[in-house]
Amino acid sequence: MNWEDTPEEAAFREEARAFIRASFPAEYAPDLDAEHSLEPEDVWGYNWPVDRRSDDPARREGARAWAAALAERGWIAPAWPAEHGGAGLSPMREFILQEEMMRAQVPTVNGIGAFLLGPTLLEHGTDEQKAEHLPPIARGERTWAQGFSEPGAGSDLASLRTRAVRDGSDYVVDGQKVWTSLGQHADWLFVLVRTDPEADPKHRGITFLLVDAKTPGVTIRPIEDIRRDAPFAEIFFEDARVPVANRVGEENRGWYVAMTALSFERAGIGATVKFQQALSQLIDYVRSEEGQRYLREDLGMLRHEIAQRYTEIRVLHNLARHTVSKQVSGAVPGYEASVNQLFGAELAQRLARTGAKAFGPFAALWQRRDAPLAAAFTHLRFDSVAATFLGGTTEIQRNVIATRGLNLPRS
Ligand SMILES: Cc1cc2nc3c(=O)[nH]c(=O)nc-3n(C[C@H](O)[C@H](O)[C@H](O)COP(=O)(O)OP(=O)(O)OC[C@H]3O[C@@H](n4cnc5c(N)ncnc54)[C@H](O)[C@@H]3O)c2cc1C
Repeated sequence: MNWEDTPEEAAFREEARAFIRASFPAEYAPDLDAEHSLEPEDVWGYNWPVDRRSDDPARREGARAWAAALAERGWIAPAWPAEHGGAGLSPMREFILQEEMMRAQVPTVNGIGAFLLGPTLLEHGTDEQKAEHLPPIARGERTWAQGFSEPGAGSDLASLRTRAVRDGSDYVVDGQKVWTSLGQHADWLFVLVRTDPEADPKHRGITFLLVDAKTPGVTIRPIEDIRRDAPFAEIFFEDARVPVANRVGEENRGWYVAMTALSFERAGIGATVKFQQALSQLIDYVRSEEGQRYLREDLGMLRHEIAQRYTEIRVLHNLARHTVSKQVSGAVPGYEASVNQLFGAELAQRLARTGAKAFGPFAALWQRRDAPLAAAFTHLRFDSVAATFLGGTTEIQRNVIATRGLNLPRS
């Protein structure tokens, strides 16, 4: 299959590159010590939802200026219609823009609001909800977090127990969410709650709500991870009143709204560029004088592994292109997104191991400053642990591929 850009796509790619060169604020430099996010598409050194609230005024201003530059073109939410603040880009152009942002190592803005909640509201939201929430996302002024998982409900999401009871024009919400990515930095949350405890099957008693993070009774606590960073949070609801007007879709039909949202998961599409860059860096390092000093001596096995990773990154690229070409033809990617996610997540871990192995004992160095290759693969090794969990575990992805892709029986 030929994935070369058409002349129009090549021209758009050039336009995206020129825009990034001209508009990315110089003061918004990568932060050498930053960790924070574990999403595959995030570029190293940036975390936009955190940067926009940084204590450092230059960083805060850099994050704001970058959002403003993207927003002016509708490129925070590139695929949305212009009337809601987007640019109406085709899936292929959106893909090219994302690739070029990854290649230039500049951060995307407003991730989960722009790529996940926004499209869900476009499909299921009321006119009032669209008017209230879409423009601030497209301007980079309101961030969102996804409160689906609970301590007892991850893979088996339908067993969630956070309760919402109708009281006049409000729902009163009680319960707990967990692993909410960047929850402590979000202005708003979209959450799944149980409105019918007797429902059988369980997923027919779930409702989808939009919750202002400042609502009384909502407490958000960061969770620290092994890197001593807090990429996610737990959220407690205690008699939190949420207007019925903030319900998306019908009561007890929130599961179907949530499934729409999950079908917009990026499925690691943009990660190919990040992996390519990491591998190229490693190859350059192996060849460099400094590399000769710090690398293990037996390079034969490493050479073999690098060649394997190179091939796998090409495979991931083809899978991503295939998924986008399905979107271009008007289809919604189903099990293909699971194939990408599974292959990309496992590849992230293999790539991290290959890189780490190259450095022998130096692979244990954590501080980036003065470490061989700035400890990039040590960090990737830790970051990639979450890859096989965060957007649904690999076992669940395999189940989806087996049943929906291969039509195998469920039991
Ligand atoms: C970095 C990170 C960020 C996250 N961000 C968010 C977020 O923003 N919002 C949010 O709502 N959630 C988030 N999550 C939660 C994530 O969606 C869950 O961790 C995931 O769905 C798995 O659920 P669990 O942790 O409860 O594990 P469990 O579901 O308890 O799974 C435990 C093990 O059992 C296996 N298993 C379970 N059921 C089956 C089955 N039917 N067949 C085969 N094997 C099975 C699993 O594959 C896994 O290996 C995040 C998680 C991580 C790690």
